Amino acid sequence: MASKCEETITLPDGRKVKIYTGLFINNEFVDSVDRKRFETINPATGQAITSVIEANEKDVDIAVEAATKAFNEKWINVDGQERGRLINKLADLIERDLDELAALEALDNGKAYTIAKSDDLPFTVAVFRYFAGWCDKIHGKVIETQGDKFCYTRHEPIGVCGAIIPWNYPLLMLAWKLAPALACGNTIVLKTSELTPLSALKVAALFKEAGFPKGVVNILSGFGPTAGAAIASHMKIDKVAFTGSTATGRSIMKAAADSNLKKVSLELGGKSPNIILADSDLEEAVKWSYQGIYQNHGQCCCAGSRVYVEEPIYDNFIEKFKTYAQNIKVGDPFHKDTFQGPQISQRQFDRIMKYIECGKKEGATLLLGGKRHGDQGYYVSPTIFTDVNENMTIMQEEIFGPVVAIAKFKTIDEVIEKAHLTKYGLAAAVFTKDISRAIKISNTLRAGTVWVNCYNVVNANTPFGGFKESGFGRELGKYALELYSQVKTVQINLEC
Ligand code: ADP
Repeated sequence: MASKCEETITLPDGRKVKIYTGLFINNEFVDSVDRKRFETINPATGQAITSVIEANEKDVDIAVEAATKAFNEKWINVDGQERGRLINKLADLIERDLDELAALEALDNGKAYTIAKSDDLPFTVAVFRYFAGWCDKIHGKVIETQGDKFCYTRHEPIGVCGAIIPWNYPLLMLAWKLAPALACGNTIVLKTSELTPLSALKVAALFKEAGFPKGVVNILSGFGPTAGAAIASHMKIDKVAFTGSTATGRSIMKAAADSNLKKVSLELGGKSPNIILADSDLEEAVKWSYQGIYQNHGQCCCAGSRVYVEEPIYDNFIEKFKTYAQNIKVGDPFHKDTFQGPQISQRQFDRIMKYIECGKKEGATLLLGGKRHGDQGYYVSPTIFTDVNENMTIMQEEIFGPVVAIAKFKTIDEVIEKAHLTKYGLAAAVFTKDISRAIKISNTLRAGTVWVNCYNVVNANTPFGGFKESGFGRELGKYALELYSQVKTVQINLEC
């Protein structure tokens, strides 16, 4: 008997929501070849929400076949205006179902429902709308050459794109990849994280409702070493876009190199420095720095996890920052006041706890937190370490939890040197009222994004991506179009 591919679940607040659990291939929710399923867990309770159908290599093959056929027979002939119309229609449908989608994010990921509603979902809609606008504005150039020749370029789609996304922002990560890929005219096989499959499957149904031709967007639930690895090494996938850990990014790049040299873009880990100068507006610096690390429970690749404070204001900063952190509302993602929900999984919870133990052992001072919060689910209390140095593990490795390390510095040269003592380069921030110093420091910092007097500000039209081992390629903004298109040069001899 075929496995069930849709059902109705009851949310913690009593609402009933229809969800989909099948693999989304060719605009249908289908069973997997091996008829396997896996459970998805509510991190607030540690209990299973339901089970979804699990894709493996064979299902990836089927999805790639669908995406290839759709690309060659249909999507390649759909012009930019129509692609834009479809993407805008999808954005309207996401907006229509915003409440339910936000609730699924909160249930499956543990993020606060009110924040999913006010931040994640509107940003998801904005990303689709932004790239919908590009669809009919993607074009090449005419290039002057010598003699009787005529040369022009075309910006063509790459073909079938694979996308592998993480669990921290399930719908945003989906939008960051699907929107530019579709705008450029590609078809897609996307694998969600095994920890958060539900919201993407709900959006899959909206792709169909919006009128996308079958096979253009295919969404699979499954695990990294099976379905993920099959995407990375597939001979008929022309490009793979990945967001996740640096270790996995490395293996994806290897798989791409060992298979068909598919194009690769990677958005990986971070250990971002956040520099507070003595002349900054202290209240603002504290407010943004607290957002910088504790937003999304610290599960943010650009989290400002290393805060450097100039000596004269260090004590004052620590006092105010601690007060903010102590007042964070940790708890049920569906409670209206909650700012911090649970971490995503037992594994992440254990990892964070290990880092906290490591920080203590290596001599850092645990100023706040460092404990489990509550007696069920994967909650970690907001944690602050002080008296840290760059040799400590907690200053080098990405913790991906609500754990910040705060250090003191005396000179600009010293803090720049310390900021750079990391293999990562995703983001950085500087707080100062002196505009010249802000610009000089921003220019010096080796990071894909530098925030001045703010943190975590990202827009649909502003590029985002890493320096160093934080990856390469820029998502969002016009730059993202380069990741999903290739340039063809046409040379015409006018003498014939
Ligand atoms: P985390 O450790 O935070 O879960 P990962 O980088 O392991 O981060 O996961 C991000 C995404 O990468 C998920 O969708 C996961 O299934 C996928 N993934 C994990 N391992 C592999 C792999 N070897 N090949 C392809 N994808 C993978």
